[in-house]
Amino acid sequence: MSSTGTKLAAANTVGPKPRLRALLVEDNALDAELVLRALRKDSFEVSAVIVQDEDGFTEALRTHSPEVVLADYNLPNWKGMEALNVLRRQNLDVPMILVSGALGDVTAVECIRQGATDYVLKDGLARLPEVIRRALQEKYERSLRHQAERDLAKKVDELARSNADLEQFAYVASHDLQEPLRMVAAYTQLLSERYRGKLDENADKFIGYASEGALRMQVLIQDLLAFSRVGRANGTYSTVDCNAVLEEVRKTLGATIQEGGAVITYANLPGVWADRTQMAQLFQNLIGNAIKFRGEQAPVISIQAEKKERHWHFSVADNGIGIAPEFAENIFVVFQRLHARTEYPGNGIGLAICKKIIERNGGKIWVESQAGTGSTFKFTIPLDSSDEKDGKP
Ligand code: ADP
Repeated sequence: MSSTGTKLAAANTVGPKPRLRALLVEDNALDAELVLRALRKDSFEVSAVIVQDEDGFTEALRTHSPEVVLADYNLPNWKGMEALNVLRRQNLDVPMILVSGALGDVTAVECIRQGATDYVLKDGLARLPEVIRRALQEKYERSLRHQAERDLAKKVDELARSNADLEQFAYVASHDLQEPLRMVAAYTQLLSERYRGKLDENADKFIGYASEGALRMQVLIQDLLAFSRVGRANGTYSTVDCNAVLEEVRKTLGATIQEGGAVITYANLPGVWADRTQMAQLFQNLIGNAIKFRGEQAPVISIQAEKKERHWHFSVADNGIGIAPEFAENIFVVFQRLHARTEYPGNGIGLAICKKIIERNGGKIWVESQAGTGSTFKFTIPLDSSDEKDGKP
């Protein structure tokens, strides 16, 4: 029992009433009795402690673990609202209801704004059980919500960890596979050079399949490595001039562009805060695809950017074979392709790399297309802080 508190025995009532541990902050014994009577009448089996000051309150929190605090507003030695501060300091989520004589509307609203759950006037105590029931229900819902938030945060954490593990695994596996694969590729190549025409026809064919497979696996592993490197490197960030990056990409893809007769247009692209190598990788994948998945006509590719709110919105539009809307999300997943390798070469990693680059930069990437009508790949990049300030076009 608290030094300053008085423990009241539970009232003897008929029927299974819910139990309630209440902590009353009240200096007037008669008022306390009226409050308890209102609760016990036909609502709760109450066990209550009554205190008048901070010491008693703190002690009762420890010994009584109240489910609800019913506090008078004005006490000779304390203020009811101070109870809220004590609850907060102890990190306790216990509803506090003011039970008071005349409390003006302005004061009542202010108390609720400061964190009181509700208030009940002493001449309207019949309302008190309902107010307490509602407060307890809200607290229950709050605890469910907090539990759900904690569960979600835990899941996000686990997912991030397992993603990091997977990334590490993909990196190590692809890195370490390179060496033995180099041996396989080199020796099958040697076999084919030395023994072509010296064994039988089937042997030549089999050696050919083996070296082709090894070469394909080398490309695949290099692409996988490139994919996991995007996640591993922190990147060297600077303001990257996209016009210059595209000039560079145009040179890298020179032979492909020429062979496909592709026309690429862009003008006045902005500088963006990014890793230059990754921006080049991004444009190279998108433009390379626009040429690879061309339609009947020579590829025409247009790259544009416009500033919308807090992002640059880029688009890379082509006049190629297009993508049916139902595949618009799948194509950004590693190894997802819509065509056989014999139709179009590739291993389905390019767009996954683009997505990773953009998402690491705080943007989004998606495609807008219909099969047969060309595709427009769109992505966003957050504005550089200097862009936001000077409102550059
Ligand atoms: P890859 O090019 O190696 O197949 P990507 O990840 O770059 O891998 O692309 C995944 C798939 O998305 C492609 O196989 C293709 O089906 C589709 N795709 C990508 N870009 C285009 C495009 N510009 N036009 C039509 N389809 C495209």
